[in-house]
Amino acid sequence: MLRIYNTLTNSKEEFRPAEPGVVRFYTCGPTVYDFAHIGNFRTFVFQDLLRRYLRFRDYSVIHVMNITDVDDRTIQMARTQGISLVEYTARYTEAFLEDSQKLGLQAPDFMPRATGHIPEMVQLIRRLEERGYTYRRDGSIYFSIARFPEYGKLSKQDFKGMQAGARVDNDRYDKDEARDFVLWKARKEGEDFWETEIGPGRPGWHIECSAMSMKYLGESFDIHCGGIDLVFPHHENEIAQSECATGKPFVHYWVHPEFLVVEGEKMSKSLGNFFTLRDLLAQGHSPQAIRYLLLSVHYRKQLNFTMDGLRQAESSIQRLEDFRQRMTELADGSDPCPEFTAQIESAQASFIEAMDDDLNISAALGVIFDFIRSTYQTHDQGRISRGDARAAVDFVLEVDQVLGVMRPQPELLDEEIARRIEERQAARRRRDFAEADRIRDWLSSQGIQLEDTREGIRWKRIHKNGLSQN
Ligand SMILES: [Zn+2]
Repeated sequence: MLRIYNTLTNSKEEFRPAEPGVVRFYTCGPTVYDFAHIGNFRTFVFQDLLRRYLRFRDYSVIHVMNITDVDDRTIQMARTQGISLVEYTARYTEAFLEDSQKLGLQAPDFMPRATGHIPEMVQLIRRLEERGYTYRRDGSIYFSIARFPEYGKLSKQDFKGMQAGARVDNDRYDKDEARDFVLWKARKEGEDFWETEIGPGRPGWHIECSAMSMKYLGESFDIHCGGIDLVFPHHENEIAQSECATGKPFVHYWVHPEFLVVEGEKMSKSLGNFFTLRDLLAQGHSPQAIRYLLLSVHYRKQLNFTMDGLRQAESSIQRLEDFRQRMTELADGSDPCPEFTAQIESAQASFIEAMDDDLNISAALGVIFDFIRSTYQTHDQGRISRGDARAAVDFVLEVDQVLGVMRPQPELLDEEIARRIEERQAARRRRDFAEADRIRDWLSSQGIQLEDTREGIRWKRIHKNGLSQN
């Protein structure tokens, strides 16, 4: 059974979704004020790994990730550039989606934008007002944290000594500032605002995630994920707003990936070690290697992102690709031998055991590379059958459903196909029909269909969405 570390209870817990077989999963998405950097992408890649693994373990996953397209920073940046908020955020939303696709991130089932959910936020604030958790000052509405004694339960902070009524308008504020936070900001000169039943203004950042997660996943759901820097105040505030409005527990499992540092130092523009995905791609690094490096360290450990690490990631992927290539060349459609089947089953079980342990990715990767090493050894002893080779390829492709680091398989080249067909003809001439059939089966497994005609052999590529003549 999958066990996962829950920040709320400070312990590894058995994962049991509220509805058996279904996981309701929310991840805090990007604030689209700039290109996302690799620290952001560490979190997004981890979330993708978790989601892929849940699917691998046969859960059906409903994944919601928001786009924060209104907050202090987006408004400020749009103003600086003299364009509308919508125009400004559309540019970086698109860039984020492009980057995500390059890194192999599977698209969320719902990707709500904050500006498309103002009525839901207003309703939530009204519920909090009706229940007496808020107060108004100069047209803004604040959440009174003194009214929620459990405030601090996620970040494990004790706020007994705090000053009652001290409030903060900023969306992002320091760890030591436990203050009443803003739910609704009064209209300000020159800022975007919405005319609503609670007055003209705009939402605070924290209320956005509560309103959007509950809209798509219900008032209580299974997993909420975000970078460790979001524990306080963002997630603490989400809990306060949501639980006070509904009277129900908001989220069962809180999951927080750690920070990333670059060459041992905190990433910062002034140190010149600040990278967006685009910077690294422009330097010639592959998105697969970047993804591999970002996911290869356990998510609760700090990741030291280095250029050396990127080169190692590239060579690890090459080892996987070479293995697939060599085994594919050997493979045909026959059955693997029982001994090799047992080896694969044992590798599968070890992979699952590692990942079930709070997504212990380094152990899981170790299992895969051990399997490759021992398969090569068996092969060198001449004990890998064609069926074994096929099963080995299938295993590697199966685990890559979770890792997502291998490149899409290139189509066979025409010359390669012609060579195989010639080998098949030669086999037939020497009446080795078993070998001829094996070659035909192998080509068929690569999407190549042969046709014997009076003029000779013809072949065509079979694509999932129909036939294409060659
Ligand atoms: Zn959030």
